[in-house]
Amino acid sequence: MTVSSRLFSLFYQEITNYSCLLVYFASINREKMKQIAIAIHGGAGTILRSSMTESKELAYREALQNAISAGYSVLEKGGSSLDAVQASVMSLEDCPLFNAGKGSVFTHDGTHEMDASIMEGKALMAGAVAGVQGVRNPVELARMIMEKSEHVLLTGKGAEDFARHMNMPFENADYFFSQFRYDQLKEIRDSDTVQLDHTDKKFGTVGAVALDLHGNLAAATSTGGMTNKRYNRVGDSPIIGAGTYANNNTCAVSCTGHGEFFIRSVVAYDVSCLMEYKGLSLREACDIVVQKKLVKIGGEGGLIAVDTHGNCVLSFNSEGMYRGWKNSGGEDGVEIYK
Ligand code: ASP
Repeated sequence: MTVSSRLFSLFYQEITNYSCLLVYFASINREKMKQIAIAIHGGAGTILRSSMTESKELAYREALQNAISAGYSVLEKGGSSLDAVQASVMSLEDCPLFNAGKGSVFTHDGTHEMDASIMEGKALMAGAVAGVQGVRNPVELARMIMEKSEHVLLTGKGAEDFARHMNMPFENADYFFSQFRYDQLKEIRDSDTVQLDHTDKKFGTVGAVALDLHGNLAAATSTGGMTNKRYNRVGDSPIIGAGTYANNNTCAVSCTGHGEFFIRSVVAYDVSCLMEYKGLSLREACDIVVQKKLVKIGGEGGLIAVDTHGNCVLSFNSEGMYRGWKNSGGEDGVEIYK
């Protein structure tokens, strides 16, 4: 071998070693790169393609996309999962298409009684509110209860007094009025039944779950409950463990569906328990609870969930669920039907 070819081979060897090192460090970095993820829902139920117009579907898709962006942009900037789920849920509460905040359904007495909750998975802090009227963003009030009171769940007039004390925004009845929702009430007011969000049996509750850069999980849910509800009926949405749950050891969950069944099945906590005590994956745990346990007792609805790796699961046993998700692994989507 000539001197020059020996030099070339040495040089070649060095280059190869160097590129191997680069590949090695890149893979370590990728491993260390933290995931962020968000998933949202705008209710589950009998949502059929046949009963949807093109413009209505577009409006729903746009609202879901806006809610994802509101939460994801918080996460991208290094913000907390709590801030992210609150931002997403507030965006849905402000949209009249969903049964929460502005779009809440009517009670039997022609009022709007709203429920909401929020939870974070690091210290297991939670806040919830049930049966409040006039509060513009019930999820914001739930957060305030979590952070500025010694309590977890406040209800009715007391919760409203607390909201006023905290200078939270209130709206008058006009803000919550829509002819469409009023017609839904008129249809069934004289009957003894309560009804889900729409005449086509849809649960319009909204919710969000998120994982932030610091590995913290959070979940939030907000609803107007069921049309024609009375006697201060409260569903699963403000019940920690039923409609909402978050735990950094397992997952964050937000539910939508026939609340009475979700309370009896302690749905959100059950998903977390199956992961924690049985070592199941998020997908396995959600499927057992939604597709088996709930179905067995006749509980219609679904849930969204995220785990500590940023995996999102959106599972439902009804015809459809308004839903969307996005994670830093490049997965995202907005879907309505099965
Ligand atoms: N889960 C809610 C409730 O029972 C309803 C819904 O999801 O739309 O109050």
